[in-house]
Amino acid sequence: QAKEGDKRYFDSYKAAGIHREMIEDRVRTQSYRKFIESFPHFFKDATILDVGCGTGILSLFCARVGAKKVYAVDASPIAATASKIVALNGYSNVVQVIQGRVEDDSVRKLIQKASVDVIISEWMGYGLLFEGMLDSVLKARDLYLKPDGHVFPNYCTLCVAPAADKAWSTEQRGEKFWKEVEGFNFAPMVKLASGAWENEIAVLDVPDKVLAGQPVVFKTLDIKNLKVPDLNFVGNFEIKLANRDLGPIDAFIIYFDTFFLSSEQLSDLDTFDSNKCVDMEPPEGIAFSTSPASTLTHWQQAVLFVDPAQTIGLEKGDILKGSVRYSKIGDSNRGIQVQVNWDSLGGGSSRGTVTREMDN
Ligand code: SAH
Repeated sequence: QAKEGDKRYFDSYKAAGIHREMIEDRVRTQSYRKFIESFPHFFKDATILDVGCGTGILSLFCARVGAKKVYAVDASPIAATASKIVALNGYSNVVQVIQGRVEDDSVRKLIQKASVDVIISEWMGYGLLFEGMLDSVLKARDLYLKPDGHVFPNYCTLCVAPAADKAWSTEQRGEKFWKEVEGFNFAPMVKLASGAWENEIAVLDVPDKVLAGQPVVFKTLDIKNLKVPDLNFVGNFEIKLANRDLGPIDAFIIYFDTFFLSSEQLSDLDTFDSNKCVDMEPPEGIAFSTSPASTLTHWQQAVLFVDPAQTIGLEKGDILKGSVRYSKIGDSNRGIQVQVNWDSLGGGSSRGTVTREMDN
């Protein structure tokens, strides 16, 4: 059962379109390239493992700055094409493409235990953890990485913010759109559309102006030390609502930031201020954000629409306190369930909960 689901997952990566979408996402691809080319000492003469190489783009970046050996592993049939791309560019002597799941026995036979200096991977999914690919990166770390090795990116944050903007949310729910379609009333489609939002996490390009307060970090992930069970978690938040007339909270917006940090920054995470380091550039490190205020990426933002009846009595300037819970779901644990609980302190009063899922 789980295996069947996994075949479907890996097949979803076999066509050109999805790889073009990722490579064309300049924020994403240039961050990796800039990191590898600005900090080549991590890669030069080193043994690298690219978890989920896809077309091989990250492996080729590593090879070009002088990696000694790159294991480029992908379980999708795209691996066969990656192999041709590597050969075409003259790197077959450095990059070894392996088709298989990085944690499987067939791959373990080909890569020695604790032999890898650096793991590089682009594993981030919608809402950061959709697809459950980080689990495989952590397993690969425990199998193949030298004790003093590095995993890049090495740090991520998850952020949340409430959204309050009636015009935006009704447009997203399609209330106006479906009421007049080529001279017909398609109103039953509104129910269908909002029926989805009542269960599912939406992935949308959220305009910054709909946010009802500054986003805050509710979870940090230190990739070198993280464990698989840590990927079911609850994080807390406290947000001061903006000083504008808000109306009800329509949705909670979740996004992530990704960091390639120096050893010094990593060893002092307690004082590391991720908000100040969003869009960090060399020589400090590299970071990119998927926030509504940043350049749009293919991840956009994850949106949990709230039942409108639940959000009464919030006032501008109130403090919104709450928590976000992430749980894995589905046969292969690739789906996520996200639950936001909130409770406001201040003039208004409101508490509630919203639970939404993303699965396939
Ligand atoms: N590194 C490429 C592709 C990233 S997409 C790039 O940056 O463009 C993620 C890739 O990881 C997909 O091709 C998927 O098939 C692969 N993948 C996911 N989990 C994996 C696992 N456990 N073992 C091997 N490959 C995996």
